[in-house]
Amino acid sequence: MERGKSVVIIGGGLGGLFTGAILSHEGMKVTILEKNATIGGGLQSFKRFGMVFDTGMHVIAGLGPNGNIRKICQYLGVMDKMQIMDVDDDCTDLLYFAEDKAYYRIAKGRGPFVESLSSYFPEERVNLQNYVEAIYRLTSEVSLFNIQRTSESLFAHSEEFMMAADAFIAKYIKDSKLRSIIAYMNPLYGGRGNQTPAYVHAIINVLYINGASRFKGGSYLFAETLADCIREHGGTVLTNNPVTKIEVENREVKAVVASKGDYHADYYICDIHPCSMFKLMDEKALPKSYRDRLNSIPNSYSAFSLYLKMKENSFPYINHSVYYMTTYCDIWNFGQMNKPWPLGFLLMTSPELNQGKYSRKVLLTAPMPMEMCQMWENTVTGHRGESYRLWKKECTDKLLDRVEEVYPGFRDKIEAVNSSSPLTIRDYYNVKDGSLCGFSKDYNNLALSQVPVVTKIRNLLLTGQNNNLHGFCGVPLTAINTCEAIFGLNYIVDKINQAIE
Ligand SMILES: Cc1cc2nc3c(=O)[nH]c(=O)nc-3n(C[C@H](O)[C@H](O)[C@H](O)COP(=O)(O)OP(=O)(O)OC[C@H]3O[C@@H](n4cnc5c(N)ncnc54)[C@H](O)[C@@H]3O)c2cc1C
Repeated sequence: MERGKSVVIIGGGLGGLFTGAILSHEGMKVTILEKNATIGGGLQSFKRFGMVFDTGMHVIAGLGPNGNIRKICQYLGVMDKMQIMDVDDDCTDLLYFAEDKAYYRIAKGRGPFVESLSSYFPEERVNLQNYVEAIYRLTSEVSLFNIQRTSESLFAHSEEFMMAADAFIAKYIKDSKLRSIIAYMNPLYGGRGNQTPAYVHAIINVLYINGASRFKGGSYLFAETLADCIREHGGTVLTNNPVTKIEVENREVKAVVASKGDYHADYYICDIHPCSMFKLMDEKALPKSYRDRLNSIPNSYSAFSLYLKMKENSFPYINHSVYYMTTYCDIWNFGQMNKPWPLGFLLMTSPELNQGKYSRKVLLTAPMPMEMCQMWENTVTGHRGESYRLWKKECTDKLLDRVEEVYPGFRDKIEAVNSSSPLTIRDYYNVKDGSLCGFSKDYNNLALSQVPVVTKIRNLLLTGQNNNLHGFCGVPLTAINTCEAIFGLNYIVDKINQAIE
């Protein structure tokens, strides 16, 4: 019955594009309104020094032979158009702990993951096996993660599902260093000790244990592929078109006002941070209790990033991520202000379409609390002043000092440096607090951060990283939730499974 109906999506990020692609595929007439000059949000790439750099989508997963995101892409008919490169099987990630100058190589796959860590901690082999079994067990509790039919409620889960991630790890692993090592991916989900629920940790770890990939030639190519999918079904994707107002009457959206005009549709979907959405509406459009609840949810921390152009033939292409950590005990503390910065960072070389032996691009992402930029919080891009420039230079130097420990002589190989701060993320994506992953999840109060895709406004739905899980592996799953709020529970899941059979 919904085929042929129209939908306007506010925000052309990962969530807006996946939701739009699915709805177009199911016959709806989709219009996406994106504020920036390019679509993609976290999938955006930008040009500097004559090169294409990816803003945020550096490591992706779920694309293996039975991967959940692969299944969605197959159903959409875009899998064959994706330009991706799998990272090395024998070393998906290389970890370095400065505290004791120790390196750990993590291998792909359940067995190899256990084996790789057992080689450093032989006495923990059985514990590691039990831990891996436990995280896979937790993911099997989430039907959508496995693209299976659901009737589940968040609260129909095992006790472990709702534990704090650090306590969950400690339940299985005795060695305190190994506990920290196992938590190394937590910056990927904005992890916080004694807050992040075990199921978030389990989902991300399982995804990456199953195999990580990278976009070749720039993540924007995939954003374009999703946009093409929408256009091929008669939809429209409009850039440079910020939405400035959502007009609501009697709990129904009547129109959205954007810089290029007013838009009317049967349904409206917001892919922007809900707290940014509130600013586009009259105060009375939604109940105060709802606004207060969402405004009170803490956001995950932000990041400072370096986008480096390397001199020709000077730095190798490395086909895995490198995680630098200062101390084991701070593994869950990336969002804390009372710690020296940086506590750690992720270094990676991003592949070109025809990647050779050397890389011209190195990306560094170092988690950073938004509060570190408080001094400039009321400034806008390009007008933050000399003190901001100097502070960024200082942060850049601190990061490069750390990189030198792993790759001596690294500085000499750099041709040009571009940096971004939490303020860049805040203003570029219009995301509250420049958050990396949106609303922070807290096992102490899961209901608080669990934001349904339906709202009290009859024809307004939400999508994107703030509803469930963030990132390349979470946002497409939420897109299914959003589309099923229109088409009915399990409708899209069934379609995906039929398509891949
Ligand atoms: C530095 C960084 C590194 C990251 N690395 C990874 C990674 O390696 N792997 C991974 O899986 N995830 C990563 N993430 C997380 C990932 O990028 C996000 O979870 C994901 O992009 C969120 O998608 P979204 O659609 O919810 O939001 P976004 O991608 O933020 O999309 C929202 C869109 O709405 C637009 N918009 C905002 N306001 C308006 C308005 N008023 N009118 C019209 N349009 C508007 C924005 O411009 C944007 O395009 C990273 C994030 C950051 C910031």
